[in-house]
Amino acid sequence: MEAPVITAPAPVAPIVERCEALLNDLTFETVRQWKENHPGKKAIGWLPVWAPRELILAAGMLPVGVMGASDRLEIVKGDAYYQSYICHLPRSVLELGLNGSLDVLDGVLFPSTCDVIRNLSGMWRILFPQKYVRYVDVPQNPAMSLGGRFFAEDLRAIAAELGEVSGTPVTHESLRAAFAVCNANRRAVHDLYALRVAKPWCVPSAELYLLVRAGALLPVEEHTALIREYMQLAEASAAKPMDMARVTVRGCFCEQPPLDLIRTIERSGCWIMDDDWLIAWRWFKEDLPLEGDPFENMARVFVTDSPACPTMHLAHGVKGAALKAEIKNTGSEGVLFMAPSFCDPALLDQPMIQAAIEKAGIPWSALLYAENTGQFQVIREQAGTFADALKLS
Ligand code: SF4
Repeated sequence: MEAPVITAPAPVAPIVERCEALLNDLTFETVRQWKENHPGKKAIGWLPVWAPRELILAAGMLPVGVMGASDRLEIVKGDAYYQSYICHLPRSVLELGLNGSLDVLDGVLFPSTCDVIRNLSGMWRILFPQKYVRYVDVPQNPAMSLGGRFFAEDLRAIAAELGEVSGTPVTHESLRAAFAVCNANRRAVHDLYALRVAKPWCVPSAELYLLVRAGALLPVEEHTALIREYMQLAEASAAKPMDMARVTVRGCFCEQPPLDLIRTIERSGCWIMDDDWLIAWRWFKEDLPLEGDPFENMARVFVTDSPACPTMHLAHGVKGAALKAEIKNTGSEGVLFMAPSFCDPALLDQPMIQAAIEKAGIPWSALLYAENTGQFQVIREQAGTFADALKLS
C-alpha cells in the first residue's frame, strides 16, 4: 500500500503546535509559570497509570502528569539506579528528578502500577526527603465491602495529607467541585476518541495523542477547553477519508510510545481506532457522582468502572472480553500489541488476551518499543505488512 501523507489540517495547526511544545517541555517551565502566576500555590506530580488528580485539585493545587521523557533526554544518572532489564520510564523520571527539572513539584503520587514504580517511590523518599511522596495503593479486590472500603479510607488519608501540603483542607464540597471539573475533562477526551472513531482522517492519532498529553501540564479546565476547540476545528476540516486498515493498539498504558512511533503506525497504513496510552484521562466511562460522600463515590466508581488495564487484577477472561467489546465498538479489524520492553504487566497479560482474540478470529500483530526508540523503519514495515494483510483478508 502506498503510504499516505498525514499532515495537520491548517485550522488546527496552532493548537497542535502548542501541544507539541508542551510535550517537549522537559523542564516543566509551564508549571513554573503557573506557580508564578498563582503565588503561594503548589503543584503535585503523579505517575502513570492512574492517580486521583481530583484530590490534588480539591486541595487547591495543580496536578502534573509525569509521563517520562521520551527520546529527548539523555539518561546520565537514571541508569545507575536500575538494572538493565527493566523498562525505560523510571530511568527518565529519575533523570528528570536528579537534573532538577522536577524541583518545581512539591510532591509526587506514585500509583501501584508495578514493582518498578513502587521501588521508584522509595528512591524518591530517599533522594528528595523534603518533598511529599505518597504511594497510592489502588484496590485489587472489586468488592465495595473490601477493596472499595479500603480505597475510600486511603483516599481520605491522601486528601488529608494533600490538604496539609497545600494548607487548604480538602472538603466534601471542594472534592465535588473537583469531580465536576474532571468529569468534564474526561467527557471531552471520550468525545475526542469518539470523533476519531467516526472520522479518523479528521483526528490523526499523533494529534489526538498531543491533545490528551497536554493535560499533563495544563490546568484541567484549560485542557478541556483546548480539546473542545480542537474538536470544533477538526470536525469542520476538509480532510479526505482514506481507506486504511483500522486497528486497536494495546500495551502502551504506562511508558509512553514516542510520538514518531504513533506517526509511523499511521504512515504505514493503519488508522488507530482505539489505544490505551494516557489512559488516566479516560479512566472512568461514567461521571463521578456529585451527591453523597465523595470518597465513597470515588472508591465505588474505581472498583466498578476502571478499564481492563494490565495493572488491574481481574477475573480470568474479563480482559479478553473487554478487548473484544472495544474492537466491536470501534470497528477495528485487528489488534496491534505495542508494549514497552520489559513491561511486566503488559507482557504478562498479552498472551492471555491474544489467545482470547485469536479464538474470536481477530488478527493481531505485536511489537516492542521503548520511550526512547528512535528507529522506526522495521516497525513501519511490520505495521505496513499487518495493514496490507488486514485489507486483503
Ligand atoms: S512500563 Fe510497565 S514495568 Fe515499566 S513502570 Fe510502567 S507498568 Fe511498570
